[in-house]
Amino acid sequence: MTNPSLLILPGDGIGPEVMDQVKRVIEWYGARRGLAFDISEDLVGGAAYDAHGTPLHDDTMARAQEVDAVLLGAVGGPKYDKLDFSVKPERGLLRLRKEMDLFSNLRPAQCFDALADFSSLKKDVVAGLDIMIIRELTSGVYFGEPRGIFEEGNERVGINTQRYTESEIARVARSAFELARKRGNKVCSMEKANVMESGILWRDVVTEVHQAEYQDVELSHMYADAGAMQLTRWPKQFDVIVTDNLFGDLLSDLAAMLTGSLGMLPSASLGAPMANGRPKALYEPVHGSAPDIAGQGKANPIACILSFAMALRYSFDQGDEATRLEQAVERVLADGLRTADLLGEEGATPVSTVQMGDAILAALDASL
Ligand code: NAD
Repeated sequence: MTNPSLLILPGDGIGPEVMDQVKRVIEWYGARRGLAFDISEDLVGGAAYDAHGTPLHDDTMARAQEVDAVLLGAVGGPKYDKLDFSVKPERGLLRLRKEMDLFSNLRPAQCFDALADFSSLKKDVVAGLDIMIIRELTSGVYFGEPRGIFEEGNERVGINTQRYTESEIARVARSAFELARKRGNKVCSMEKANVMESGILWRDVVTEVHQAEYQDVELSHMYADAGAMQLTRWPKQFDVIVTDNLFGDLLSDLAAMLTGSLGMLPSASLGAPMANGRPKALYEPVHGSAPDIAGQGKANPIACILSFAMALRYSFDQGDEATRLEQAVERVLADGLRTADLLGEEGATPVSTVQMGDAILAALDASL
């Protein structure tokens, strides 16, 4: 038996800092739980551009296609803001998502009890919150053609195209219904069928898939703008939300703030099963490269660590070990440890990225 393989792409800004803590957690699983991984590491984003003149080298892309799962830190930074769009750091990430065909982006928004006071919403609105936003990731307005900035008469016009095929909608709807069956058995689909044809098709196809295959799951529909309001009014009404690429981008960031900090939020991007039955998979924190705090040892590594927990659950069938890691995080938070992003009140002392990693490893040790 060979070990499962992982490609680690730390990326830019705080990416390498938070990924260093994930590497310690992975080592812990190898040493203490007999879960060894074959690990390779490579560049992505601005770091890859600096080395190769491209945000994702072809060899890295090929390796990503071979491994069981990819773990990514974050890409981007002000140094790269003036680059041509085609070589911007974010293009490396978009290429990974597109070529691995990672159409289903899972973004859990869970509120740890210890952080309920930290949310900008009232404690009873967020305490115990556990919802999953599934964002379609490989199509829609970020990929549709035509796109570009064109001359029209005596002015420029910027164009992006929202485009969805039936099969693209059906497969992400299926992943939402499948996941709902393992959770609260409820799916809410969000689009703008009131003003967009692509939204009308989205609603039709989700309804058809539901009728044909998932009548046991409760399905509701909501316009995405109303969904944004409901997410802040009473988020616990939701279980699984499925939505398109653009609305999913916005709604999952909104859900992020329900739980307190971007530094807490993991994500998984899954595609079709490979020959070994595992889905193509990329795990990454929701946050970006946070240039404002990069290099200062302040970054919260929990989102990246919880992304590895999702890898344990969704790629490696290690749900119990994923729960062990999530509980270690919960315990550290309950003990009062906070990185700077999790500190509201004046006077409290934040812990560093490495200290948070130390504490989570100690909690893992204590779990044995
Ligand atoms: P960001 O997520 O990097 O940062 C937003 C705010 O949240 C900042 O104040 C930052 O300090 C804070 N923050 C984020 N993660 C944190 C963490 N782990 N611990 C503590 N604080 C944290 O978003 P941005 O500032 O809009 O973008 C910065 C760069 O990241 C840009 O170049 C952007 O394109 C890129 N970006 C990349 C990704 C990705 O790699 N998936 C996602 C979003 C943005």
